[in-house]
Amino acid sequence: MDFPALRCADCAALAAQPAFVCRRCGGDRLEPAGLSGRGRIVSWTTIYMPPAALAAEAPYDVAIVALDEGLRVTGRLRPGARPDFDLPVRLVEAAVGGYIFAPEDGA
Ligand SMILES: [Zn+2]
Repeated sequence: MDFPALRCADCAALAAQPAFVCRRCGGDRLEPAGLSGRGRIVSWTTIYMPPAALAAEAPYDVAIVALDEGLRVTGRLRPGARPDFDLPVRLVEAAVGGYIFAPEDGA
């Protein structure tokens, strides 16, 4: 699924939502930019002590994903996924509580 990002109309920098000004140039003309939702894991950690809303999910992995378009975002990994450095992933859900990524191979 597409990753719902924003692109600055002045300098073309990408931003994850919500954003109200461009972090590169300070401009406020941000426009919707659907990204591929595909990327690779840069780093990850396992959460054992989650916020109350995610208590039933723990333990779960949270990863920093470098999207193919260059934007880095944070999201949970689908339960059962085994994280690894540079592992290809894709966005499978954008829900309350954040983004959920799964390995490209479907594991
Ligand atoms: Zn800008």
